[in-house]
Amino acid sequence: MATERTLSIIKPDATRKNLVGRILARFEEEGLRVAALRKIWMSKRQAEGFYAVHAARPFFGELTEFMSSGPCVVLVLEGDDAVAANRRIMGATNPAEAAEGTLRKLYADSIGENAVHGSDSLENAAIEIAYFFASSELT
Ligand code: ADP
Ligand code: MG
Repeated sequence: MATERTLSIIKPDATRKNLVGRILARFEEEGLRVAALRKIWMSKRQAEGFYAVHAARPFFGELTEFMSSGPCVVLVLEGDDAVAANRRIMGATNPAEAAEGTLRKLYADSIGENAVHGSDSLENAAIEIAYFFASSELT
């Protein structure tokens, strides 16, 4: 297994529900380590930049409104196969389809307001990490 880094975001629905500590604890319990972490409130423009790959999707406006509707915690998780491990811990995009015990099954309200983000590939993880963090902040 390779040690990887991936970007996670605790989304505004989850920060509103005071779930930051519980979600961070879950990552640590699952063997991932926090390599960088910051609480931010994204502008609409910043959310649009982050989700630029989804710009053509019908839900792009709703998604970027939601992501700029309150604070997020952005963090870098490090560990064995961290990209896939984080996706497994998160569960499916739609909480109605997410497996028992996953963060989205436990905490998400809808396919849009679904508690957490996780990079979907190692290549995208590097791009997404660089969107929020300088390399000097990764420790
Ligand atoms: P994931 O976050 O699981 O990687 P996607 O990359 O497909 O999922 O979508 C990015 C985000 O866009 C989702 O986490 C969710 O917040 C939002 N989203 C996806 N599909 C929809 C949809 N059909 N309606 C509203 N929002 C959506
Ligand atoms: Mg995605």
